[in-house]
Amino acid sequence: MYSEIKNINVSELKRDQATQIIESCVHCGFCLATCPTYQLLGDELDSPRGRIYLIKSALEQNQFSLKSLSHMDRCLTCRSCETTCPSGVEYGQLLEIGRDLMESKRGKLQALYRYVVRKTLLTPFIFRPLGYFYRHSKISSKSVKPEKIDAKVLLIAGCVQPSLAPNINHSIKNILSKLNVEVFETSQAQCCGALDQHLAASSDAMKKVKRNIDIWTQKLESGFDSIISSASGCGVMVKDYPKLFKSSDPYFQKALFVSSKTKDIAEFLATKDLSALHLSEINVTYHEPCTMQHGQELSGLVESILSQFGYIKKTVKDSHICCGSAGAYSIFESKISNQLRNNKIENLNASQPNMIVTSNIGCLMHLQKGSSIPVKHWVELLDV
Ligand code: SF4
Ligand code: SF4
Repeated sequence: MYSEIKNINVSELKRDQATQIIESCVHCGFCLATCPTYQLLGDELDSPRGRIYLIKSALEQNQFSLKSLSHMDRCLTCRSCETTCPSGVEYGQLLEIGRDLMESKRGKLQALYRYVVRKTLLTPFIFRPLGYFYRHSKISSKSVKPEKIDAKVLLIAGCVQPSLAPNINHSIKNILSKLNVEVFETSQAQCCGALDQHLAASSDAMKKVKRNIDIWTQKLESGFDSIISSASGCGVMVKDYPKLFKSSDPYFQKALFVSSKTKDIAEFLATKDLSALHLSEINVTYHEPCTMQHGQELSGLVESILSQFGYIKKTVKDSHICCGSAGAYSIFESKISNQLRNNKIENLNASQPNMIVTSNIGCLMHLQKGSSIPVKHWVELLDV
């Protein structure tokens, strides 16, 4: 049994959550084999078990240093360890608590750098013109309107995706229109809060989370069928909203409601008759983001949809390992991130595809930087 968590800088909710999670770890070490940072660096403190130990020391004895913070920073939050763990340790949730606590050790200059990057990415009027210079693709088809309306859904625009790859949400609107579903896209300012959350800015994240819950609850109550996410990184964050509240908090029930109505676009399409659609390219390799396979536990879903159109599933070596994108990780931990990308691209290209497809804007942008063949969101192939 672990000793009581005493750290006064941790809220009651986080203290309870951390105690439960730490107690569920039986130290078996199975997670080490599937942790990308342990595989690359070979240091136990860069493994899930090592980081759990560091967080435990920080919470129970208030013992942590700048070095402990570096081990937290090097974690990709890929949650591959959660998929492997036989004890169901909710490592991702514990990591956020540990990061929040250890952030106080960060030097002022590095903290400022991280703040500027975060605000730049998350402030639409700054990122929109800046994102234009990094634009991956532009809208490549005409807009389709539904012939009749059987349902209406809310599409999470995403904070950076509309600037970098506007064709993704455009394609979703066209595809859903052909299925007689009307789509309302949220404003770019309605960020899911994931980037703040992963960069230890939890109070900024909570403001966004509460605002989204308020707006989206109203929309759902006014007749919207579902909330659709086209970026698996946003989808997993929204689905995890209830974990951010105590069950006695008035937001908890609303968060549960919003979470239960949120679907990745693959989940939504999996329940539909797709015979009116076509696929523009069959020889593709699918990169399944960590947020899809480990976070949302939707492994295999996209490929089962693509297979309806003649796509043949390809075995990708180390498909469970992160591509190195991981939100802003590729900016702050570029060496590890680039190493992971090189490995991933080599494995994806082994079957000599004409294109790589994925489900998350972060992975898409990151892979494209190192790829000689196009990288797209898989839904773009269905907009023909
Ligand atoms: S996190 Fe899970 S897999 Fe890793 S050491 Fe703890 S119990 Fe074992
Ligand atoms: S989230 Fe990923 S990088 Fe972090 S400890 Fe788990 S497996 Fe390793």
